[in-house]
Formats: sequence, structure tokens, C-alpha cells
Amino acid sequence: MKKILQDLSFEQLKSLTVSFGAPQFRAKQLYEGLMRGKRISDINIDKDLKDRLLETYEDEPVAIEKTFTAADGTEKYLFRLSDGNMIEGVLMKHSYGNTQCVSTQVGCRMGCKFCASTLGGLIRNLTSGEILSQVLVVNALKSDKKSRAITNVVLMGSGEPLDNYENTVAFLKNVSAAGGINISPRNISLSTCGLVPQMYSLADEGLPINLTVSLHQTTDAERQRIMPIANKYGISEILAACSNYFEKTGRRYIFEYTLIEGENSDLRHADELAALLKGRPCHVNLIGLNAVKERDLKGTGKLSAERFEERLKSLGISATIRRSMGAEIGGACGQLRAKYMR
Ligand code: SAH
Repeated sequence: MKKILQDLSFEQLKSLTVSFGAPQFRAKQLYEGLMRGKRISDINIDKDLKDRLLETYEDEPVAIEKTFTAADGTEKYLFRLSDGNMIEGVLMKHSYGNTQCVSTQVGCRMGCKFCASTLGGLIRNLTSGEILSQVLVVNALKSDKKSRAITNVVLMGSGEPLDNYENTVAFLKNVSAAGGINISPRNISLSTCGLVPQMYSLADEGLPINLTVSLHQTTDAERQRIMPIANKYGISEILAACSNYFEKTGRRYIFEYTLIEGENSDLRHADELAALLKGRPCHVNLIGLNAVKERDLKGTGKLSAERFEERLKSLGISATIRRSMGAEIGGACGQLRAKYMR
């Protein structure tokens, strides 16, 4: 595999073009082209520079292999990477704009029992440019000349973003860079299964993104049954890391809680969750389980979800049931890739 030009910040791209003996303004043309989702070969720069770049860098690091469209307008993409690996992403349309969900790894090694992304383990980390290119190619597909189609980004596709920390942080910086696609950190949400040390590091990056934590249980013993990472970090350590995130960034944080029948959906769990979170500057997103073929876990009905939500609210916890989008096209992370691999 060649190198990925989209890994570079504008400053780094400038040094590169200068090292190739090209004038500085070429870097600007190149950068603008890349940020519009163009291939190197399609950018209008002199042939000499183009040929030299193409010797070392991938022309199209992320290509859309297939698109699936759901009735609600949600689009799911199967992307092909230059080494033939496949990843997936989702574009969700909201009244306030379009949210793109990106993957950060090919596969995942976290082993959560309900998740399709982790079924085949971790294949490899994505580079920052491969994460960025998912946004760039979909934005190019959906934008007209004047406006930018993607307004929000969520790191909730395949992979654990904080298990690929350096590349994820480089991506966050590049995707929010003023001269680039310029997505405000406030419109970016990163979801983690709770890698505590990296949650502390992230708080010090000076990037006011939204931090979302996949909690899914109320006690460590029960969490360990469905999330192996719970053997390493306890819920109290996660909560302390969240408090630190709030102190450092001023950002409220969000907990994801996927309701699983017989595991975490009793009203007893709602009471325990409320006790854990009482008084914290946080919100709970209740998620309906997208049943994964290879796993025997089941979701709860809508009624139990509403009962759970009501109970949390009556105990003073801000909570909503996340609207499920594009379920019929395999909206849950990893489902599409798993199907394709089969
Ligand atoms: N690795 C990150 C990002 C994962 S995806 C994390 O763990 O947070 C985003 C959310 O979808 C997580 O809360 C994850 O637990 C949840 N999720 C995974 N598989 C799911 C499924 N089959 N149904 C519902 N939610 C699921």
C-alpha cells in the first residue's frame, strides 16, 4: 500500500510540495482539491508534480463500493480501501443538517457481545487520512458547488476510536481545520467503550468535541458479561474520566445505553443508572438493539424502552430514545461489512 496524502495537514502538505521543488501555491491548489474529495489525478496541477505524488501516494484511498438507501433517506456506504479491505459509513439526514458516521478501524478488538464490528477481531487501524476521506468522498457526492453537505460527524462506525488514538486525534484536527472541510469540533461526537487513560488524554487535546461513552450496564459485574473492556476499567473510573473531561472542556457528556432483554433493561437498572448519574452534566441516549445474526441477544420492545426512559426522567436524568435510522439496511456498525465478507 502506498502512503495516504490525506493524512497530511495543510502545513505538512506545504513542506512536501516544497521538498518536491514546487512553488508554495501548488500546495494550496492540491489541498483544496483534496478537501473537495478529488483524486490526485483529477486535481488541476502540473503533470510533473502529479506524477511524482502518484509514485508515493494513493490516488483514491477510500472509494465507494456500494450504496444502500433506506426509506427514511439514510444512506449506508460500503467503502473499499486501497489494500482491498472494506469499511462502512452512514449518512443520516436531519432537519439541522447531515451527519456522517465514520469508521476508525477495520474490525475491532473490543469484543462487545452485541456488536457486529468485532466479530472477526481487529484487522488494522485506519490512518487519519482514511478516516477523513470517508467524509470527503461522501461530501463530494452530496455537495453542490457552494455548500458543504456534511455538517456533523460521529465516530460511531466500526472500530474503537480511542484504540487508534494518534490517528483519530490527527483526523479530528484535520477535519476541523479552518482551511479544510472545517467541521466544528462542537458538531463532532466521539464514542468510546470506555478506554479510561485515553479519555484523560483526549481532554487535554484542546478539541471541544462531544464525548459519548458506551455504558450499557450499571454494575461492573454485569458490564463484564457483555463488554470485556469492563474487566480492565470500572464504571467509577469511567465516571471520574467523564468528570475530568467536563472540567477541562466544559462539554457535557453522553452515555449510550443499548437496551438488551434480560441483561440491562429492568426498571431496577433504570434506578441504578439514575443513582450513578444523578447530578452529573450528562445525557442518556437509549438505543434499541439491532439484533446481530451471529449473536443471540435480543432487544426490548418499544414499550419497555419508553418505560425505562420515563423512569430515568422521573428520577431527574435527562434521557431520550435514539431514533433508529436505516435499520433495514443494516444500520448497526459492522453489519454490512460482516454480510459482505460472508
Ligand atoms: N467503539 C465505540 C463506537 C462504537 S459504535 C464504542 O464502543 O462506543 C456506537 C454505539 O453503537 C456504541 O454505543 C455501541 O455499543 C453501539 N452498538 C454496537 N452494536 C450495536 C447493536 N447491534 N445494536 C445497538 N447498538 C449497538
